[in-house]
Amino acid sequence: MTFHVFNSLTRRMEAFAPLEPGLVRMYNCGPTVYSRPHIGNYRSFLFADTLRRWFEYRGYQVQQVMNITDVGHLLADQDEGEDKLEAQARRESTDPWLISRRVTQEFFADLAALGVRPATVYPKASEHIPEMLEIIDGLVAKGCAYVVDGNVYFDVNSFARYGRLSGNRIEDLEAGARIAVREDKRHPADFALWKCDPAHIMKWNTHYGADGFPGWHIECSAMARKHLGERIDVHTGGEDNIFPHHECEIAQTECFTGQPFANYWMHSKFLQVDGGKMSKSLGNVYTLDDVRARGFEPRVLRFALLRGQYNQPLNFTWAAMVDAQSSLENLDDLVRRAHAAAALDQDQGAEQVQQATARFERGMDDNLNVPEALVALSYLRSQFLEQHITGGGARAALEFLERAHGALGVLRLAQDTLEARVKQQIEARAQARKRKDFAEADRIRKALEAEGILLDDTPQGVTWKKR
Ligand code: AMP
Ligand code: ZN
Repeated sequence: MTFHVFNSLTRRMEAFAPLEPGLVRMYNCGPTVYSRPHIGNYRSFLFADTLRRWFEYRGYQVQQVMNITDVGHLLADQDEGEDKLEAQARRESTDPWLISRRVTQEFFADLAALGVRPATVYPKASEHIPEMLEIIDGLVAKGCAYVVDGNVYFDVNSFARYGRLSGNRIEDLEAGARIAVREDKRHPADFALWKCDPAHIMKWNTHYGADGFPGWHIECSAMARKHLGERIDVHTGGEDNIFPHHECEIAQTECFTGQPFANYWMHSKFLQVDGGKMSKSLGNVYTLDDVRARGFEPRVLRFALLRGQYNQPLNFTWAAMVDAQSSLENLDDLVRRAHAAAALDQDQGAEQVQQATARFERGMDDNLNVPEALVALSYLRSQFLEQHITGGGARAALEFLERAHGALGVLRLAQDTLEARVKQQIEARAQARKRKDFAEADRIRKALEAEGILLDDTPQGVTWKKR
């Protein structure tokens, strides 16, 4: 079976076929770095990671871009309201650049802790202003955008397919416009590509005026084009990104290039918490630190978020975390049993391993139906419990589990020796240092020290000993 995905653009399941054989170009909308991403954001980012892992499992090379939004994302997701970073800076009486640096580091540390494979590149919006201006200038030249007092707006009536992704019609948008229509727009649904605002802190001097900053949507269009090219295979985000963000990205990019932008649009459903929307007032906007404070390792959160199919409802509760933990323990038990059975003499169970593999792949190929794929692992465990798999069969099972781990990133394959764990922590620390996150590197060293494990940085590399 080939990999089938649900394409939000056509609202159908479709067989995946890349633009270029063997290569997937994928863009994932990343975090707006005004405060540490919460577990809902991680549902979207882990979906992107699983998708990338499944492409790799299927033999594709993946060029994966996840952006960092550090300017221009306004509070209302529309053209009005304060910049999320500047609002946060005001609340903390500090500088928005400091906040974006801090939160970006927290984000990378969370990704590493959650076992996310690093994207090919994590471009920052603020570092792509010339690329955005190139598109904006092109759109103005083509008559798809217009300038009013230093603001540049996209003219939605210039793009016939506007609304195709979200199903919104321009006429309805006009009738339903909630916010007071800006008088300088030709149509209330027109959106800002560039905004003039002398009071903005993060601002750039351009030929449109002295003080301006980009609209949120043009950022992703420009970063995708710069790092992946004018046409891409897959574009992802959370379901709230469909409108206006992705609708506007399509309009800008396609008007500019004259070609279709992304062939597959995939959106993860919002994570609910305690049966509803996460909210500050309910105190249930959780981060990875809250998860740790409750005694769960990050791997349990990864599993709790992955075990629901990405486009189906998922409700986070602490009871669901306890349940995820116990299911994970069953998977750890499966690995232990496979190791033990591999040492036995007979070679039974090849057929069961094949069946489990086929079922796992069928599940994942079906639009990343992880719950279905996990049934295959439960089945495999039942076969070990009944001692139907031994010797060569068990070694084949271990090979399959290694590949399944490549796709899901939640198994603990090496029997949990101290060596393996310390090695992994040393690697995580090296990664943290590489991205200059010395706080995280220090945290890892101290956590090991607390267990009596002392690291020594030698010219030959890091060594360790037990106190
Ligand atoms: P933001 O930091 O607001 O730009 O959001 C980053 C990504 O997280 C976007 O793709 C959002 O769609 C996604 N997102 C935000 N909240 C949730 C949630 N509760 N569940 C799943 N995805 C979310
Ligand atoms: Zn985006």
